[in-house]
Amino acid sequence: MQTRFPEQVRASGEGAAVERIVRKCVHCGFCNVTCPTFQVRRDELDGPRGRIYQIKHAIETASVPASLRTHLDRCLTCRACETTCPAGVEYGRVLDFGRELAERAAPRGTGERLLRRALRWALPHRRRFATLLGLGRWVKPLLPATVRRSIPRSRPAGPWPSTRQPRRMLLLAGCVQDALEPRINAAAARVLDRLGITLESVAGAGCCGAISHHLTATDEAAAFMRRNVDAWWPQVQAGAEAIVVTASGCAVQVKDYGRLLAHDPAYAERAAKISALARDLAQVLAAEDATGVAPAPGAPRRIAFQSPCTLQHGQRLGGVVEGLLRRAGFELAPLADGHLCCGAAGTYALLQRELSDELRTRKLASLAAAAPQLIATANIGCLVHLQAAAPVPVRHWIELLDPLA
Ligand code: SF4
Ligand code: SF4
Repeated sequence: MQTRFPEQVRASGEGAAVERIVRKCVHCGFCNVTCPTFQVRRDELDGPRGRIYQIKHAIETASVPASLRTHLDRCLTCRACETTCPAGVEYGRVLDFGRELAERAAPRGTGERLLRRALRWALPHRRRFATLLGLGRWVKPLLPATVRRSIPRSRPAGPWPSTRQPRRMLLLAGCVQDALEPRINAAAARVLDRLGITLESVAGAGCCGAISHHLTATDEAAAFMRRNVDAWWPQVQAGAEAIVVTASGCAVQVKDYGRLLAHDPAYAERAAKISALARDLAQVLAAEDATGVAPAPGAPRRIAFQSPCTLQHGQRLGGVVEGLLRRAGFELAPLADGHLCCGAAGTYALLQRELSDELRTRKLASLAAAAPQLIATANIGCLVHLQAAAPVPVRHWIELLDPLA
């Protein structure tokens, strides 16, 4: 694609990088075929090629129509288009740039601003969110059915292993997941303990920054990222082998700290090292001799696995969890359109309800086609979103290998 970005845009490092990316696009439209919002809306402006064109046009003409933000808001940031693109267009970076441009040029209305601020106030702060969740559970019987189904029942985490293993890894405890389903991180610690690895949660680390980042609160996201770098750094220097992330959405973010903090001289080097050490839990298990890892006692064997976009597109780890589960003895149901997003996409499920619900209906139809006994996934957002309408339980895959279940 030919471009004529203004000099002041080129002068910023990210502007020049975005221009290089846009120039790679050859207009082929292959990406539209795997784009969930294009599949639902059948509108070029709601597909990746159209979005790239709209962002390019806004940059070149220095005019940002209100419609740009509407079409960018509808994007799930699922990055299925990146997996499909034969030219290697990093659409996610172009999208981030376009979203910032739209946000600066056309402020949102009061209602939208308040909702987005409320989400940023509540979700990334574990204690705040846990308090709100506790209140929600308390008044659950009084809530409408749609809201009730989105609040999972409380399940105990179970004991954290007390053994000191010779190998140490750090855990991103996170925010929302640890409040909603504390059993996931505890199960990961128990499985890794069996493999001779101690998983440690570090005081001071918290939200990975993804929620703020996706709500275009860039400075706030950077503050969360810096806080985690500060919290983990002494442990990294003391020899921690890796930073383990059990939610695939957060793993994508931590793996991107190096790029996102590259402009900050005080953090660039440490952030790059943290990103290099970040591992999705699936990668950790896949790299170990996990022959001793077996199905959890009483776990159903016929399951369907929903591979989150952040696992298969964001981290390019498609097939890794499926391989681990098959080797452990699970029978995985075949899945049509496994590359398509389930509609959760972080706060998307709360901000774009219609599209999100439609995508969930489609995803659950393919997941349930072979009548599995359980649906497994790798990201808390997908888990909660699917669970609200699924005909069978939805669990994080590590729980299926938890020796204590
Ligand atoms: S990130 Fe997902 S929703 Fe957005 S344009 Fe790409 S494929 Fe479509
Ligand atoms: S698949 Fe890649 S090259 Fe083709 S239109 Fe989409 S972004 Fe451009």
